[in-house]
Amino acid sequence: MARNFDDSARTPRRRRSDAPQKLPETPEEGVVAPLQEVLDGYFPQARARLREVLDDPELRPAFGLGLEAARARTTAALEKVLATGMPHGAFRVDQGGTGETGETLTGIEMLGHNDLSVMVKSGVQWGLFGGAVSNLGTDRHHELVSDLIELRALGCFAMTERGHGSDVQSLETTAHYDPDTQEFVLHSPTASSEKWFLGNAARDGRWAAVFCQLYTPDQEESHGVHCIVARIRQDDGSPVAGVRIGDHGVKGGLAGVDNGTLMFDHYRVPRENLLNRFADVSPEGAYSSDIESPNARFFTMLGALVRGRVTVGAAAGAATRTSLTIGTKYAHLRRQFAADDTLPEKQLIGYRQHRLRLIPRIARSYGLQFATNLLIKRIHDLEAEDLDRANLTPEQSLDLREVEAHAAALKAANTAHATDTIQEMREATGGAGYMAENLLTVFKADSDVFTTFEGDNVVMLQLAAKELLGGFAREVRSFSNLEMVRFGLDSFGGVLRRRTAPTP
Ligand SMILES: Cc1cc2nc3c(=O)[nH]c(=O)nc-3n(C[C@H](O)[C@H](O)[C@H](O)COP(=O)(O)OP(=O)(O)OC[C@H]3O[C@@H](n4cnc5c(N)ncnc54)[C@H](O)[C@@H]3O)c2cc1C
Repeated sequence: MARNFDDSARTPRRRRSDAPQKLPETPEEGVVAPLQEVLDGYFPQARARLREVLDDPELRPAFGLGLEAARARTTAALEKVLATGMPHGAFRVDQGGTGETGETLTGIEMLGHNDLSVMVKSGVQWGLFGGAVSNLGTDRHHELVSDLIELRALGCFAMTERGHGSDVQSLETTAHYDPDTQEFVLHSPTASSEKWFLGNAARDGRWAAVFCQLYTPDQEESHGVHCIVARIRQDDGSPVAGVRIGDHGVKGGLAGVDNGTLMFDHYRVPRENLLNRFADVSPEGAYSSDIESPNARFFTMLGALVRGRVTVGAAAGAATRTSLTIGTKYAHLRRQFAADDTLPEKQLIGYRQHRLRLIPRIARSYGLQFATNLLIKRIHDLEAEDLDRANLTPEQSLDLREVEAHAAALKAANTAHATDTIQEMREATGGAGYMAENLLTVFKADSDVFTTFEGDNVVMLQLAAKELLGGFAREVRSFSNLEMVRFGLDSFGGVLRRRTAPTP
C-alpha cells in the first residue's frame, strides 16, 4: 500500500498517482487473499459460513427502530444464526452440540462485523446462559442444554446485582436449601440484591442461571456463590409467581437486547436445579464439593465461563475492523483541497496526517486479531482435552490461569481499541460519519459498553497484571542463591541503564 501513497502537493512528478487509487475489488486480487488467509486464523470455515449470511438484510445493523421493533428483530435474527449451525460448537456432542468450540467463538466474533445487538443476544443465549448450564451443570441438565441450543428455552445469565457488578463474590441473592421439600428457596433480601442489567430478562427469557449465596441447614455461613437455574416466565411470557421482572428500557446502544432486572421472593425451585458440576447438595441437605477451598471453587466456576469474555473482545475487534474499512474506503474516495488551481483536489489518503489516523490502527487491529485467534485456538484445544477442572494437575492449573489472564487482557485491549478507533473513524469520515446509514454512530453506540460488561476493563487489566506478577514470583522463587544474586544484579543494571542512558 505504502508505495502508492499520493503526495502530489510536494512534487509534480507524483501527479500521475493523483488518479483514484485502485483498491482490490475481490479478495482474490493482489495481497488480499493471502492476507485474509492469515487473518482468518484457525477456523476459516466458521468465518466462511458466517460471511454467507452476513449480507442478509435482517442480519445487517439496524438503527432508528423503536424499542419493541428492535428487540423483535434481534430475537428473530437468532433463528438465522441458529440455522448456520454455529451455536452447536459451544456444546459437547453428548449435549447435542458438536464440541467445535473454536468454530462457535469465531462465529460469534463474525457477528460483530454486523449487528452488535445480534452478537450480544447470541452471546447471552448460547455463550453466557448456555455456557453456565453446560459448563457448571451435569447430566441432569442435558435436556435444558439441548432446549437452549435450539432456542426452545431462552435464558438470562443472572450474575450482576444492583449493588455488585465487578465484585461477584459479594453477591447478596440467597438460596437456602429446604430438606423437607427438597427445594432451594431463592430470595432477594435487599434492594441492592436485585439482579440488574440482564440480557434476555426484559422480554424473552423463560429461564435464568442465577448466581447466589448457597446455604444448607448444616452450616450457618454461605458456601459461597453458586449457580441455580430457575424458570422466570411461563410459556405465555408472564412472570412466574415469586419472580418480579423489570425492564431497563432504552440504553445508550444495543437497542435489540432486552436488558432487565429480576427479584426473587422466597421462590422455590427443585434441588436438581443447582448446577452441580463443582458442588452438590444431597436430598438430606449435606453439602459436598471436590474443591475444598471456597475461594478456589469460586474461581474454578468463573474460569469455566471465560469464553464469554473472549467473544466480547473478539467481536469488538470485528466491529473495529468494519469501521476501519469504512474509514479507509472513504479516505480513498473523498477529495479535499488542491495544492493549486492546476491540480485536482487531493484524496484524503494522500495526506500523511490522515494516514497516521488509519494505518497504526489497522496495524493494531491486525495484531489484536492474531492474538485473539491464538487465544481462541488455545481455548478450543483445552476444551477438547475435557479437563477435570476439580482435580487439575499443577501444570494444567497454570495453563488455565494463563489463558484466563490472556482473555482478560485481550478483552480490555480489544474493547479499548474499538472505542478509540470507531470514534476516530467517525471523525475521519467527516459529516458522513455522523449519518446513521453509514453505521459508524451505530457501532459507536453499540460497542461502547463492551469496555464494561464481561468484566470492566480496569478490573480486567488488574487481573492480567496480577497473573503476570504471580508468574514472575513463581520464576524468582525457583532460583538458587547464586541465581538470585545474578538476577538482582541484572535487574538493578537494567534499571540503571534505563534511567541513565538515552533510549532510542
Ligand atoms: C448493557 C449491559 C448488559 C449487561 N448484561 C449482563 C448480563 O447479561 N448478565 C450479567 O450478569 N451482567 C450483565 N451486565 C453487567 C456488567 O457485567 C457489569 O456492568 C460489569 O460487571 C461492571 O459492574 P458495575 O456496572 O457494577 O460497575 P462497577 O463494578 O461499579 O464499576 C464502576 C467503576 O469502578 C471501577 N472499579 C471497580 N472495582 C475497582 C477496583 N477494584 N479497582 C479500581 N477500579 C475499580 C471500574 O473500573 C468502573 O470504572 C451488563 C451490563 C450492561 C451495561
